[in-house]
Amino acid sequence: RRVSVSEVTDDEVFRGVKGRTILDRMRLDGKVAYVTGAGQGIGRAFAHALGEAGAKVAVVDLDQDKAEAVTKELSLKGINAMSITADVSKPDDVQRMTDQIVSKWGEIHIACNNAGINMNSASEDTSLEEWDETFNVNLRGTFMCCQAAGRVMLKQGYGKIINTASMASLIVPHPQKQLSYNTSKAGVVKLTQTLGAEWIDRGVRVNCISPGIVDTPLIHSESLRPLVQRWLSDIPAGRLAQVTDLQAAVVYLASDASDYMTGHNLVIEGGQSLW
Ligand code: NAD
Repeated sequence: RRVSVSEVTDDEVFRGVKGRTILDRMRLDGKVAYVTGAGQGIGRAFAHALGEAGAKVAVVDLDQDKAEAVTKELSLKGINAMSITADVSKPDDVQRMTDQIVSKWGEIHIACNNAGINMNSASEDTSLEEWDETFNVNLRGTFMCCQAAGRVMLKQGYGKIINTASMASLIVPHPQKQLSYNTSKAGVVKLTQTLGAEWIDRGVRVNCISPGIVDTPLIHSESLRPLVQRWLSDIPAGRLAQVTDLQAAVVYLASDASDYMTGHNLVIEGGQSLW
């Protein structure tokens, strides 16, 4: 195990690290990123944020039309973007996605593994099909993406992996019935911690973001819609999160400014887990 003294001196804090200000260090110019589940909701906002900060962005989604539409939005802003149709629960799709990005742009610096699904049934009624489907996308899919991108990043000696977990990895939001979702997201946090510890000394950081309840199409599903009013009273901030509330976090975790951070679960939930 290599142990070294930090290269950053006190003086550099005032002059800027290697002449770069903190805002320079949060720029992503020249970086190659992908975001899964980027066809709508949180992933779409992440794709915009990474692109606005300077990265090239591969917009990945199961739904080809949505991926292409978001790619067009990015291109209209002058962001270098490509669209990839892939199902993160399928090993061949995950490998094809990784290969496609590397063959077009040469490297992968930022892997944003965000695709996820949520099904709701009482625990006593949760079928094995529901359990397996949820885990296949949320945990197995995230693992396969981390592994495929991680292999590229370990060769490069550099990479930032950002997984989307959920506040439900920490608390059980009342009165949701989502055993398979909550446990799969707790798995994403442990996956993130384990990879974070294993890969940091080879230049790869792995962190996750745990949003609270975000106003996206996911929470307007038939099963979740009736719960929204109830949740509002559980959020000290007094409102649901908007996708824009999460954008700075993904840029920070993707940037050099967060180099000393790994295995972290960044919770952004308007204080909901405090009550
Ligand atoms: P969403 O349902 O609005 O969007 C998800 C996108 O992922 C869709 O475009 C969908 O086509 C795509 N997708 C689904 N399965 C896929 C697969 N197997 N492969 C590739 N793409 C797939 O969801 P969202 O609210 O934007 O959530 C994004 C992530 O954030 C998920 O992991 C979710 O669990 C997590 N999250 C959401 C909330 C919330 O309140 N919305 C809160 C905490 C965590």
